[in-house]
Amino acid sequence: MLVIWKRISFLLAGIVVCGWVAAPSRAQVGQPSPGMGIPDNGSLVGDTSPLAREAQNWLVDLIKINTTNPPGNEQVAAKYIADVLTKEGITPELLDVAPGRSAVVARLRSSVVADPSRALLLVAHMDVVGVDRSKWSVDPFGAVIKDGYLYGRGSLDDKSMLAANLAAFIALKRGNVHINRDVIFLATTDEEQFGDASLRMLIAKYWDKFAAGFALNEGGRVMMKNGKVQYIGVQVAEKVSVNIAVTATGKAGHASRPTKDNAVVHLAAAVDKIGNYSAPVHLTSIVRRYFEGLAGVEDDETAKWLRVVDTPDRGEHAQRVLADMNPSWNSMMRDTIAPTILQAGVRVNVIPSEAKAMLNVRLLPGDTIDVLVNELNKLVNDPQVKLQVLPEGGLAAPNSSMENEFYNLITKVSAREYGGAPVLPYMSTGATDSAQLRLHNVQAYGVSPFAVTEEDESHVHGDDERLPLASFAKGVDLITRITAEFSVTR
Ligand SMILES: [Zn+2]
Repeated sequence: MLVIWKRISFLLAGIVVCGWVAAPSRAQVGQPSPGMGIPDNGSLVGDTSPLAREAQNWLVDLIKINTTNPPGNEQVAAKYIADVLTKEGITPELLDVAPGRSAVVARLRSSVVADPSRALLLVAHMDVVGVDRSKWSVDPFGAVIKDGYLYGRGSLDDKSMLAANLAAFIALKRGNVHINRDVIFLATTDEEQFGDASLRMLIAKYWDKFAAGFALNEGGRVMMKNGKVQYIGVQVAEKVSVNIAVTATGKAGHASRPTKDNAVVHLAAAVDKIGNYSAPVHLTSIVRRYFEGLAGVEDDETAKWLRVVDTPDRGEHAQRVLADMNPSWNSMMRDTIAPTILQAGVRVNVIPSEAKAMLNVRLLPGDTIDVLVNELNKLVNDPQVKLQVLPEGGLAAPNSSMENEFYNLITKVSAREYGGAPVLPYMSTGATDSAQLRLHNVQAYGVSPFAVTEEDESHVHGDDERLPLASFAKGVDLITRITAEFSVTR
């Protein structure tokens, strides 16, 4: 493996340098840039396919390193990545956050004095969620290639992005180019549990090591439909996760003498009401823009509803239709509440005095949990049922700008790379590390660069998670080009 890498990287170094060095002279003489059908500045980076092949090897190795969180054990992956960087002549640093858990950071400097406000951070997490091995058709940590897919936990979330970031970062180093801002590579720990080793902790302990004004992270999407790219979503905001404990109390006793005062019955009634509740629609500016753009690429029937979603006369009906069509759209329009855990009773013949449920709430940015809890209390209307907001919820972060130079560049390069497909601002319903970054004044953007179908996406956090291999090289190419075009001086 090692020997092969060295040989490929040597070849690649030549190719990439050629690409970069040759580009300005071609531009000066006004010739169209060759290869890949990329107009204007596309020739800044040469052919990235050898780089993508290397990145695929890194991805395979990273999938085989089991970083299931808990416990994470990301230090093994961090050391692997540090080795890859060291071989490139880059000096990485391990940032220890907990026993067996280390992030890894590396920096390419643009000048002696760093200007964090200009720096670009390439960030991805190393940990993955657990697996139910019995439901997988292959070894989840075997990195099996089958039918054009690379199977494995983390193949989409988020080791593919990790490998792509690593590739983009290494390409800059190999290119030996003059960069106009520091570029920082960061592989993080504990993203999936958001616990004591998460980015929040890394920021608290090590912010100076990776402080940046701009970041590329997971959270966006390149949506494939009917064999072509339908649109590219760039994540500029995300919903906020908050958990609520619902506790019902009642009279304990022998199950042979039941009364109406049963905690289980009170809880069940409350969960039924909450589960069937729909919070009011609140269309944020991002979701409006997203729906507008989507209307241009969806089928006529769907587009018709998307176009009137915000109108006074037909809006309400359209919102209902769209919410029924797609759970993601429903979640983009309102706060959502999902009952996820039920707990009651220890013996089948004993009525318990207490029954508990857990609700996972996803708030729209700008909405507050107190307002929602008030509504739910009115709805449940039962003095024997109490709702308690649990600490350690997500934090509401400002949106990233849809106006700045970095957002414009991401839009331009993504559209060019994906044949002119529309690029839409996107609010993810799930949480990413970008909220933490945005809270620290980082303009963070979610660009998950690999073209996937809804079906592919549905395996994330589920069984048989898999990456279409044809999409991988293109994704590596996109991240490399965005990184280079934003940071290389021409
Ligand atoms: Zn992730």
